[in-house]
Amino acid sequence: MFSGGLDSFGCAWQLFTNDAYKDFHIHLHHMHIVNVEQRTQNEEEATRRFVTYCEQEFRRDFTFTENIMGFRFLQSGDFPMDSYLYGFVSAMIANNNPNIVHVAVGRTKTDMENDVPLYPHIQRGHRIFEASLTDERQGKITYIFPVRDISKNAIYEALPPRLQQSFWSCRRPVNLKPCHQCETCRALAALNIEHPDFT
Ligand SMILES: [Zn+2]
Repeated sequence: MFSGGLDSFGCAWQLFTNDAYKDFHIHLHHMHIVNVEQRTQNEEEATRRFVTYCEQEFRRDFTFTENIMGFRFLQSGDFPMDSYLYGFVSAMIANNNPNIVHVAVGRTKTDMENDVPLYPHIQRGHRIFEASLTDERQGKITYIFPVRDISKNAIYEALPPRLQQSFWSCRRPVNLKPCHQCETCRALAALNIEHPDFT
C-alpha cells in the first residue's frame, strides 16, 4: 500500500532492492485520499514519480493500481485514518487476487510502539483488514513491515537522490508546498530531512 510518503518510499524501496523480496511479484497500490487536508494532488505526483523511477531503473515487472476515496464532505476533520482505509482496500485487493500472500505496510519503529498515539489506529486498521477478508482468504494473508526496524534517517539515506526529492509526507500542503507545520513536516525537520517542494 503506497501513499507517496517517505515511509512508503522506504517500504517499496526495500521490496525492490532487498534480496529478501527478490522472488515476490510486487503490486503497488495507491489510494487517492480526498479530504480536508488537501494532500491528494501532491501524493499523486509523488506516486507517479516513484512508479516512473521503477519503470526506468528496475528490470522487474510489477503491477500498479489506484483508487479514489473521497471524504471532503466530512468538514470537521474527523475523517477516517489512512490505516483504516488501507486495511479495507488491501483486503478487497487480496480477496480478488489469490496470488497475494502479504500486504506490505510502510510503518517504522516509531509508529509501532505502544505509547505512540497512532499505534491504536494501526491496530484497528489491522482488525478492519482481517474482518474484510473473505472466509476463503482468512488466515492466508499477512501484513509485513519491511521498514519496521529502520529509522526515518536510514530510510532517507538509502534512497537515490532522485527519490529523496520525490516523496510527499506533508499532511496539509499550502498551495502545493509543504506547510512546515504539520506533525510530519516537523518530524522531518527535527531529523534534518529536507521535505521536497514540487512547485
Ligand atoms: Zn506539513
